[in-house]
Amino acid sequence: MPPRAKPFQSDLLGWFETAAREMPWRKSKDPYRIWVSEIMLQQTQVATVRPYFKRFMKRFPDVFALAKAPQEDVLKHWEGLGYYSRARNLHKGAKYVAEQHAGKVPNTLETILKVPGIGPYSAGAILSIAYEVAAPAIDGNVYRVISRLYDYHQDVTTSEAQKQIKTWVEKLIPLDAAGDFNQALMELGALVCSPKTPACQSCPVQKHCKAFKAGTVDKLPVKKKKKPPKKLTLLTALIRNGQGEYLLEQQSDGGIFKGLWCFPHVESVHPKSETEQVSAFASALVDQALKSEGEVFVVEHTLTHRKMFLKTHLCQPVVSPQKLSKNLAWVSVFEEHPYAMPVAHQKIVKAMQAQPLFFG
Ligand code: SF4
Repeated sequence: MPPRAKPFQSDLLGWFETAAREMPWRKSKDPYRIWVSEIMLQQTQVATVRPYFKRFMKRFPDVFALAKAPQEDVLKHWEGLGYYSRARNLHKGAKYVAEQHAGKVPNTLETILKVPGIGPYSAGAILSIAYEVAAPAIDGNVYRVISRLYDYHQDVTTSEAQKQIKTWVEKLIPLDAAGDFNQALMELGALVCSPKTPACQSCPVQKHCKAFKAGTVDKLPVKKKKKPPKKLTLLTALIRNGQGEYLLEQQSDGGIFKGLWCFPHVESVHPKSETEQVSAFASALVDQALKSEGEVFVVEHTLTHRKMFLKTHLCQPVVSPQKLSKNLAWVSVFEEHPYAMPVAHQKIVKAMQAQPLFFG
């Protein structure tokens, strides 16, 4: 028997009332706060998001503040959270809501889905939590919990399975507590029905769970194996001047690190001539002959589809710095600065700090 809606809701919501973690965005029903938090929480742990959320809300307390901010500033406040396209889309979305809806986050599925950066999951979360609209908000946690509750053995990455799971959630969601219900399901997935070691013995909805009865919990959810990320070797130049500043380059909109500031880098074309490649592109950047003094360390960083190896070369110091083009800047990278850097290049700064003899 599938879970019956009323008893299931009552067990889940009763548990949520006492088990819900305190989170800064749960303190109000402000749809803008909920929107920001839901975007930050995508692919990111709650504990990581907390300080970012507080800092972001302090700087951009409402839709208008975010809409009129320069993108540089928005990226700087996202620095370290990763997946920067989320920040760029959130910024675009805020501009759209400020212009098209006088700053009020839309309250229907049809209108909210037109906001840049808001997809079905974020739409469901914002509508249900802020406006109590009975829209499902199905993230990875919910796919897992529901596939176990229904003992569902189809691949949850397929659109057919996702449609089925959405139909089940729509049947379970209460009209008068949609926001709490969605949050409770996600919280159950995060705290109890975890991917590898679900705490079935203390689960508040155990009596409704078909996989528990069938003894198939550890087989669910069924998910097709992801392709391993592609490997990418980036030769990265640490170019310094006489003031201890390093050259950063703002990336174009087409690349991996769109719009962010990075140590200059190029993709390695031949493993045997990497020192020469670094010397050549470093010289071209500063318009004077500059040699790589050799590789100093390698930083690894994985994005969803790519595993990067940043082979970091220290270059000879620039003796007479020329006037730089707009996308280049000399930056004291060990101090606070206004240039938003991607996580991979922040890791380079950390690795440099760990070698004060070289980089102090
Ligand atoms: Fe998940 Fe186990 Fe609870 Fe079922 S009984 S919902 S598998 S934690």
